Amino acid sequence: MSEAAETADSAALQRAAYVHIPFCHRHCPYCDFAVVDMAEEAAPVDRYLEAIIAEIEMEAPWSSLHAVNFGGGTPSILSADQVELVLDAIRHRFGLVDGAEVSVEANPEDWTISYASALHSVGVNRVSLGVQSFDDAVLRSLGRQHTPEEGQRAVENARTAGIGTVNLDLIFGTAGETLESWRHTVERALGLEPEHLSAYALTVERGTALSRAVRDGAPEPDADDQADKYDLLVELSDAVGLGHYEISNWAIPGHECRYNMATWAQGEYLAFGLGAHGHRAQVRRRNVRRLDVYLKMVEQGRRPEAGSERLNAWERDKERLFLGLRRRSGVIAGDVGMSFLDTESGKRLLDAGVIELVDAHLVVRRPLLTDAVAREVLALKEPSN
Ligand code: SF4
Repeated sequence: MSEAAETADSAALQRAAYVHIPFCHRHCPYCDFAVVDMAEEAAPVDRYLEAIIAEIEMEAPWSSLHAVNFGGGTPSILSADQVELVLDAIRHRFGLVDGAEVSVEANPEDWTISYASALHSVGVNRVSLGVQSFDDAVLRSLGRQHTPEEGQRAVENARTAGIGTVNLDLIFGTAGETLESWRHTVERALGLEPEHLSAYALTVERGTALSRAVRDGAPEPDADDQADKYDLLVELSDAVGLGHYEISNWAIPGHECRYNMATWAQGEYLAFGLGAHGHRAQVRRRNVRRLDVYLKMVEQGRRPEAGSERLNAWERDKERLFLGLRRRSGVIAGDVGMSFLDTESGKRLLDAGVIELVDAHLVVRRPLLTDAVAREVLALKEPSN
């Protein structure tokens, strides 16, 4: 078995935690996350953090964590002291292993040297910068507040502060973005020598300002154009030796995102905050999505749970496959994978070279078809005995 497959499989044993910070300076037009738009409404940040800490204390003790991920929303609206408060609560309740990954998502305009240094001094060792593009026109059409220069400066600030892993988040396929503009973005991103890169195609989600604009006649992203841009990214990142380890993620070996690796390996992770999803003792649970309800429940001493689910063995194995297919090293086929290869669609995908069986792992060879393969796996019915 390849080293990459071994690393990916063993990630299932790493325990992690996710902390959701739902506040944003402004709601970007394409984003369908439940965020609190600080330009429109008051953000009760201190009260929210008290609730997060109370929620951490409600969780039963566990063994030490390998990764903590502050996601959002915009975690970089927090001061370093506020991040430290939450980290201390996590350390106290569960503990962190030596060298645990502590990652924060940040907007480039927030990421000054003093802020990056302060976060580094409280234990943050990874940053995910929402750079999105190095083309000013694309950034404007995405409604982002930073400039390409601020994107670049944010990377430099992370280096100066001593942050060990820098991820650049990119978005491709905005209507109006040319292939040359995207090439320029990728070349500039790779020129900054990030340890990690994530790139997602822009999608039009229902209920967003972008979907209303498209309904009113604005141009929408084009799937063929996005496929060309994805191929270009694969080619350029390959040329500089950045390892493509998941459909949308690239890293220098050793800098793969531990938190994400655990989730794709169907590992267990705690989740705190609004709308957060966790997975512990084979139960998936999700928190409520309304801020007032979340605060009220926690302040009344109740877990802010909206629901939970325990899958049967077959569904659980199907979920394992569904999650693991995203990884370039594939996923151990197991009973569900072998049953899938016996179906008409499994045989068709195998014959067409879309999927392959390598060392008992099911591997998707055409990354752009991963979602289609995963849908076919999800549609697989449990055999009746
Ligand atoms: S900053 Fe991120 S989470 Fe906040 S609105 Fe924009 S895309 Fe959504």
